Amino acid sequence: TTMTSPAMTLQSNRSLLEIDRDHLIHPVTSFRGHETHGAILLESGKGMWLKDREGRDLLDAFAGLWCVNVGYGQDSIVEAAADQMRRLPYATGYFHFGSEPAVRLAQRLVELSPEGLDHVYFTLGGSDAVDSAIRYITHYYNAIGKPAKKQCIALERGYHGSSTTGAGLTALANFHRGFDLPLRWQHHIPSPYPYRSELEGDDAAIIARSVQQLRDKVAELGADNVAAFFCEPIQGSGGVIVPPVGWLKAMRAACTELDILLVADEVITAFGRTGPMFACEAEGMTPDLMTLAKGLTAGYVPMGAVLMSDKVYQGIADGAAADIVIGHGATYSGHPVSAAVGLEVLRLYTKGGILANGQRVGTRFAAGLAGIADHPMVGDTRGRGLLGAIELVANKGHKTRFDPALKLADRLFERGYRNGVIFRAFADNIIGLAPALCASDGEMDMIFARIRNTLDDLLEEADIRAAV
Ligand code: PMP
Repeated sequence: TTMTSPAMTLQSNRSLLEIDRDHLIHPVTSFRGHETHGAILLESGKGMWLKDREGRDLLDAFAGLWCVNVGYGQDSIVEAAADQMRRLPYATGYFHFGSEPAVRLAQRLVELSPEGLDHVYFTLGGSDAVDSAIRYITHYYNAIGKPAKKQCIALERGYHGSSTTGAGLTALANFHRGFDLPLRWQHHIPSPYPYRSELEGDDAAIIARSVQQLRDKVAELGADNVAAFFCEPIQGSGGVIVPPVGWLKAMRAACTELDILLVADEVITAFGRTGPMFACEAEGMTPDLMTLAKGLTAGYVPMGAVLMSDKVYQGIADGAAADIVIGHGATYSGHPVSAAVGLEVLRLYTKGGILANGQRVGTRFAAGLAGIADHPMVGDTRGRGLLGAIELVANKGHKTRFDPALKLADRLFERGYRNGVIFRAFADNIIGLAPALCASDGEMDMIFARIRNTLDDLLEEADIRAAV
């Protein structure tokens, strides 16, 4: 054993931050900004709680990055991974090889997902799930003799990952700027964003207009040229935008009529995040393809998946002779350790009661959102299940956004952190919330109490007070 004094810990902490600054590139971060800001190093976690290296206890209201749906420190997951690593740490899916966990996990996903999604391809996360969906769709239309159908449509404010193809379907400025995106076959239609729509309050009108915008875009591109419509059932990274109930089903009907595929990107919304196992389930609809990640392994190890309808699978299968390889695949597709973790995580959701707890505590979450709506800085609260947002505005009546010069999002995050709560602070001053499904009522109330304190603290700062 080595003895470490508090001073040594501080010393090693300081040098870790320096090493981080000099060598570690962080995802979705300003390189220059990070050099001055520095890293916030997290040390351990249990349930809803994180501990940083300074020993601060933090209530995680964002489940890591909307992924740790079962909470931190679930020992049965650790054991499932360790068992599998000891038995067989790796099996390729190439050359017809495979492993039991991958086969069983595919079976479970087919059982649990909406009727009609019968085939599963495993990825490493959400970005390559979206990219794989695009590759399979391209292959499908070539295979069935409709090679012109290549144009894809997605929503403004949508997020579909960080691959070149997925970031192009994404419609958030930072993911396009400097990356020469979107690509020429990628198109966007407006987001069904009730709070920022002049149709707010008239759900039927918002849905009808969205359907019309899809029809118009397809007409503009030519129906024979359009492959697919990609959407998140609830837009996550765009600011947790909750379309009216019935929107997804209406878009499904429109896609069927227009003869284009619908890809539901459920990377955030699946696995109980919005209540049911999958958000599509609540609308009784089946997409042609579904992309999954995050909650699939609850963030304990990396894994994603693409679920595919039999129609798409058979089209691809029929398109090439039995001795022709479909050249898409990754070394770690169907990784046995990730699959073993996925199986245990799914068991925790179902038999372990975590999905049911999430549904129960969802009521408390909704009450928390409603309760904070009266705050002078809050313009809108919205959510479904345990996915929610609090949109801050300078003027409630006019829905005026805060002046970007106030750098409110950064201050919001830092204040929250000091008050012991972690949430997402989006650039346009939307607080994103996605607590783990294992939360207690008390923890849920504590999240909202700490957010309220954070808003009150900010309102005491002169420039913010003057802006409201
Ligand atoms: N699609 C959606 C809807 C997402 O929210 C994300 C991740 N936030 C992705 C795709 C990309 O997933 P990953 O970060 O695992 O590559």
